[in-house]
Amino acid sequence: MILVLKEEITQEETDRIRSTLRGEGYLVREMSDGGQSLIGAIGKATQDLDFFERLPGVERVIPIASAFKLASRKMHPQDTVVQVGDAAIGGERIVVIAGPCAVESREQALAIAREVKKYGAVLFRGGAFKPRTSPYSFQGLGEEGLSILAEIREELGLGVVTEITSPAQADMMMKYVDMVQVGARNMQNFELLKCVGRMGKPVFLKRGLSATIEEWLMSAEYILSEGNDNVVLCERGIRTFEPYTRNTLDLSAIPVIKNLTHLPVVIDPSHATGMREKVSPMARAAVAAGADGLMIEVHHEPDKALSDGPQSLYPEQFGRLMRDLYVIAPVVGRQLDFGYLEKAQAVRHMSAARGDSDRRAAFLGELGTFSYKACAQYFGTDVEAVPMSSFTQIFEAVKRGDVDFGVVPLENSLTGSIHENYDHLLEYDLRIIGEIALRIMHHLVAHPEGNIETIKRVLSHPQVFQQCRQFLEQHPEWELVSARDTATAVRKVKERGVVTDAAIASKVAAEIHEMAVLQEGIETNPRNYTRFVVISKEPLENGPRRKSSLIYSTGNRPGALFETLKIFAEKGINLVKLESRPIHGKPWEYMFYVDLEADIESPSFKPVMDVLEKNTDYLKILGSY
Ligand code: PEP
Ligand code: MN
Repeated sequence: MILVLKEEITQEETDRIRSTLRGEGYLVREMSDGGQSLIGAIGKATQDLDFFERLPGVERVIPIASAFKLASRKMHPQDTVVQVGDAAIGGERIVVIAGPCAVESREQALAIAREVKKYGAVLFRGGAFKPRTSPYSFQGLGEEGLSILAEIREELGLGVVTEITSPAQADMMMKYVDMVQVGARNMQNFELLKCVGRMGKPVFLKRGLSATIEEWLMSAEYILSEGNDNVVLCERGIRTFEPYTRNTLDLSAIPVIKNLTHLPVVIDPSHATGMREKVSPMARAAVAAGADGLMIEVHHEPDKALSDGPQSLYPEQFGRLMRDLYVIAPVVGRQLDFGYLEKAQAVRHMSAARGDSDRRAAFLGELGTFSYKACAQYFGTDVEAVPMSSFTQIFEAVKRGDVDFGVVPLENSLTGSIHENYDHLLEYDLRIIGEIALRIMHHLVAHPEGNIETIKRVLSHPQVFQQCRQFLEQHPEWELVSARDTATAVRKVKERGVVTDAAIASKVAAEIHEMAVLQEGIETNPRNYTRFVVISKEPLENGPRRKSSLIYSTGNRPGALFETLKIFAEKGINLVKLESRPIHGKPWEYMFYVDLEADIESPSFKPVMDVLEKNTDYLKILGSY
């Protein structure tokens, strides 16, 4: 059960509640939910709920009917984010774990690790202790395999994951790896579950071959009850009567899990299907269905693999899959970030270099705006998001060094460029260090007790009303009230506390203010994306450099712009955006903003840039990222 505590509770009352619960034999967990203090009590019911409800300082008691308690979303309404190496599983970014079934040799593991890292995997997997169906099959390299994994982490900066098959391996695992996997065959090995619970390292818990979702969550409960909250669930297919695939991938487990528990869920399409050509379709479906990540077997020479060769993707196939996932993720409000590791490591390096730990990024509006979401999706939990009330304020704060980064929108796929920010990029001496595209999905948000029939007034940004015109036309009686931004709209609706009010905003804003989403996706055009850039005073040392942005002007003579574009064309550099902006104070003269798919600051581009400089009157490099 969960005890919701009164706001004005005293320390003495809290202590008394805790000791009463312990006296009754309960395991006591401190919790909080959106500022509200809660106490979780796990154990056999000894008294009626009334008994606990009458304790001084208790506002109400919520019973948890499910067999699993600590794993229940009731106990922990927010999503759990599990940090493994530089990757956060369960956050805004999709985490892809890849590698061979088994570590076979140093050369094999390193070759595959380099490939999967190149294509965007953020964690490396490889078995050192393999639970094989036959005792005559390759059983893994044991400790030697673990030390190879540790070497990969050192050399490539990838966090490493491997399977633990016995509590006797715990000390070894502590020494070498970042996350331990409990395999499908061991999902109900309760001694092993208790052991990984005590180890405290993140645990990757696979679903048993014939386990129900409840049994799987009860296994997670074993780990959580030992005080280890870092559990990632992995669906890897279950046994059915169907012989065309190795197992049957239960994709419907994703929404079920998301509803029942706060723990992240990862899909393993490799063991689920057992066949290479079926892995990518299932991986794409998993991301579309809301999985927090994927675990995929990849081998550079699958025909020679000592285990699971037929289901291992070739590295190039893995690369193609990653490109597809990159496109699919924003559709479901997530991100596959090819610069994930480089960014996390660069931010960590920056913090270490400055001797303090907190990096800050400014965004427009308040918590829950789309700018906030862009900020959270770009940096994950590595950087603190700082609200600002105008774009100028963001540029000024970055310039003064009050914050390390700024996140500003540059263009929307429906409404075009945000000119103010283009002009700021010219005016301020700051660098673009990254970019992120976000799908803009609007939801009708109201009080949990409200419904569509009770609504009379709707608050949001005027542009949002435009974007939801078709939906709003069905409700001509609603009064539309403009707000500064979408998150402010939700906050105001919450503060007024009446069921006749609603806001149009993102899901994040609804979650932050604990409001209900009455209707999802009410924007007229679902292909509504906004592209944000991240600005900073300094380039991100060792950050990603796949694209570059620059601004220039040319002389007012025939073919001047063409001459500059020819330079890129001749070098085979792909131009992805060209935008012109009037030069202030010079009527009918223009600055060109150009985005290129190349690192124009690398030494090999020096000759190209020299020619460009000769052909332009003004040239400013905004950054390579
Ligand atoms: C594996 O991940 O290589 C493995 C053996 O998986 P499972 O336990 O799901 O069969
Ligand atoms: Mn395998």
